[in-house]
Amino acid sequence: METVQVAVRIRPLVPSEIEHGCRSCLDRIPGEPQISIGRNNQMFTFNYVFDENEGQGKVYNDAVKGLIENLFKGYNLTILAYGQTGSGKTFTMGTNYSGQGELGVIPRVLYEIFEQIEARTDYSFVVSVSFLELYNEALYDLLTDKPKEQSIVDMREASDGICIPGLTEKPVKTADAALSVLVEGSSGRVVGATAMNATSSRSHAVFTINFKIVKKDNPKEVMASKFHLVDLAGSERSKKTGATGDRFKEGININKGLLVLGNVISQLCEGNQSFINYRDSKLTRLLQDSLGGNSVTLMIACVSPADYNRDETVSTLRYADRAR
Ligand code: ADP
Ligand code: MG
Repeated sequence: METVQVAVRIRPLVPSEIEHGCRSCLDRIPGEPQISIGRNNQMFTFNYVFDENEGQGKVYNDAVKGLIENLFKGYNLTILAYGQTGSGKTFTMGTNYSGQGELGVIPRVLYEIFEQIEARTDYSFVVSVSFLELYNEALYDLLTDKPKEQSIVDMREASDGICIPGLTEKPVKTADAALSVLVEGSSGRVVGATAMNATSSRSHAVFTINFKIVKKDNPKEVMASKFHLVDLAGSERSKKTGATGDRFKEGININKGLLVLGNVISQLCEGNQSFINYRDSKLTRLLQDSLGGNSVTLMIACVSPADYNRDETVSTLRYADRAR
């Protein structure tokens, strides 16, 4: 299995794009995970391409479902949704789960995990979830009862990976219980208005499923693994969003995390794991024990097909291309 996989998902034109007469500038090569864009038909190849007609179930079944067994073998998993604001990251991940509409990745993953747990008789499992937000290089615990300003936590490098003292970890015994925790946490996310999207998310949201696996006839045999599901901040350059002042500074921090993440993933893909620059951003430090090593990473690059967004779409495809 490839340890870094990349899927591109093209969302449908949204009503406002159709109203403004936008057209699609993307072509899907039938039967191939390939996509071509724009006037000079620049071509890109990925592990998967999902087009505007392919729904949540298809994305999950093709790209995500098969990864879950790794968690039961003690490997860490990370799924990252990357793309400009409005490209479909939150929709795809299901970060704003409400129980309505077609389920995104996170709820499907949770149902699958608990279904597999019930089917296992040889092992017992302890599952807990945490949910945090990385905003302007600060980590916020989204599950604490404390007010926002007091919900800042920080990470430490422990011998067995990254640990975040004080971060809320909620034990969950069912998928529905885990989903209520997701709902509770996402209602507290920082959102900031930009010219591009009134509710654009300017932060990275990291939902983590912690997994402890104990062999029933030998309780000393314990494995631990974790699954990070990451809804990254918008990848757009701050110019287009018309951001100034604090928002602009925010843009710089966000883009630095994404830049370092891109570098790290591309270093991992080159197979040279000795000089990985995890330390260059908080995002990559946070994810470092779940990128490379004993872990599998899927990046879902989300794009708008609209010609209006061509430059951002090309930049997303290039970013995703480097990760292969
Ligand atoms: P982001 O999180 O990247 O800013 P969203 O997930 O909020 O973007 O998506 C922007 C809009 O497009 C939302 O109204 C969402 O419902 C819609 N959308 C995104 N992807 C799809 C899709 N694959 N199918 C249908 N609607 C989508
Ligand atoms: Mg979003």
